[in-house]
Amino acid sequence: MTVILGLDQGTSSSRAVLMRADGTLSHIAQRELPQIYPQPGWVEQDPEAIWSSQAAAVRAVLGDAGLDPSNIRCIGITNQRETTLVWERATGRPIANAIVWQDRRTADDCAHLAACHHNGRNVEALVSEKTGLVLDAYFSASKIRWILQHVPGARAQAQAGQLAFGTVDSWLIWKLTGGRRHITDVSNASRTLLFNIHTLAWDDELLDIFDIPRSMLPEVVDSSGDLAVASELLPKGKITGIAGDQQAALFGQMCLRPGMAKNTYGTGCFLMLQTGATPVRSPHRLLTTVAWRIAGQTNYALEGSIFVAGAAIQWLRDGLGILNSAPEVEALAASVPDSGGVVFVPALTGLGAPHWDPHARGAIFGLTRGATRAHLARAALEGIAFQVADIVRAMETSTDGSVEGLRVHELRVDGGASTNDLLMQMQADVLGIPIVRSQTSEATVLGACYLAGLGARIWSNVEDLERQWHESRRFRPQSNHEERLHKLAAWHQAIHRARG
Ligand code: ADP
Repeated sequence: MTVILGLDQGTSSSRAVLMRADGTLSHIAQRELPQIYPQPGWVEQDPEAIWSSQAAAVRAVLGDAGLDPSNIRCIGITNQRETTLVWERATGRPIANAIVWQDRRTADDCAHLAACHHNGRNVEALVSEKTGLVLDAYFSASKIRWILQHVPGARAQAQAGQLAFGTVDSWLIWKLTGGRRHITDVSNASRTLLFNIHTLAWDDELLDIFDIPRSMLPEVVDSSGDLAVASELLPKGKITGIAGDQQAALFGQMCLRPGMAKNTYGTGCFLMLQTGATPVRSPHRLLTTVAWRIAGQTNYALEGSIFVAGAAIQWLRDGLGILNSAPEVEALAASVPDSGGVVFVPALTGLGAPHWDPHARGAIFGLTRGATRAHLARAALEGIAFQVADIVRAMETSTDGSVEGLRVHELRVDGGASTNDLLMQMQADVLGIPIVRSQTSEATVLGACYLAGLGARIWSNVEDLERQWHESRRFRPQSNHEERLHKLAAWHQAIHRARG
């Protein structure tokens, strides 16, 4: 008997899966979702298309399994984070396209705000202390402000309490409940720049800074439990799990205790380290975020992102034309014993944590007449592994004394590029810890289903859930400490030169 329906609303597609009570996925369906690029740096989506692609994926997965919508009792939702929607409460009509997380239109507004003062304090410092984030266009607050400033009549409507703001989870739940529930979970709330991660509530000072009426905001709920009851599309479905995509992946990888970490190797990389009940501030500008709240117990995480990881392999394929497909990189790189002194810094769109240098550009060092495309392929894979190692080290040295000795003992991995055995072995070698690949690469939607199953008491506690999680392969470090230091020294020298 199938019990859990997982919805995974991502930036480029909406997916729906069915999970059995033994924690395995039985069916999966996907619908593409277009993005709209009205101007350079702007990225939008049609809110109705977000909903209709998600609804179509649900119908498809139910059709494949031969199930009636009323068979579904338990629903978990995970979603692209930060993407901002505003709609009319009375009609449910969006007043603008969704502004997608990648959209940079508010970068100048954020830079301006960062230099301002509020109640005698620098806004940038105040925002980062309260939210654990950086004051950046990436997060929702400046996007809401933009909509209120630029859509005719919007500010007056908002002040009259007629508008609702939501991230994608809120929007899907609004749709599923026929407008009866306007909620978001703590993990999504913690990505808006309006949520105080210490008090776990919307914060009046932050609302003042961004000039956003409190009446627009959703009610903040746990990530697991009896959260809402659907009336549309899935008439008997209870929504019992909600989390932003990276937090869901951390849960899907069962990183439940402080020091447990996961990395998703996709176009970029998303690393998350579980820090337990304490929010840890990072001196390296890693993000502090809520991982989830279950039965009133909050878990926090540190997050670091790499902009270009698998995208570097795409560049070898499409930009240089030295590969026909991304997976080919493994055999090509394995055809030489080392990179022959070639170091590739894949900063094709700047460098993220812990360097934070938007002006850095990609660079290749150490070329000799003996260098071949195989050396370049190997150096590209090493470049991914080195960037991940820098973030893991930054996470481990982020403790402000509130959490003792945050050591990462192993890294759990998922995402398209994590299927590359050579890359995983390089990662183990450069970090000096085991890299653990889980049995399913679907950590994100798995996490949403786990949260939902826990919320519906299909599993009574997380220990039951941990038994569902299985590793498929473990890569143990084969290098010694000196080799690691030597390689990292060459990498850091290359980073220094790429930023010069
Ligand atoms: P996203 O979710 O970001 O679209 P995916 O998890 O689907 O990404 O992974 C796709 C990325 O992984 C692409 O950038 C691709 O170049 C890279 N990739 C896919 N297979 C491999 C491989 N075997 N080795 C290295 N990179 C790979």
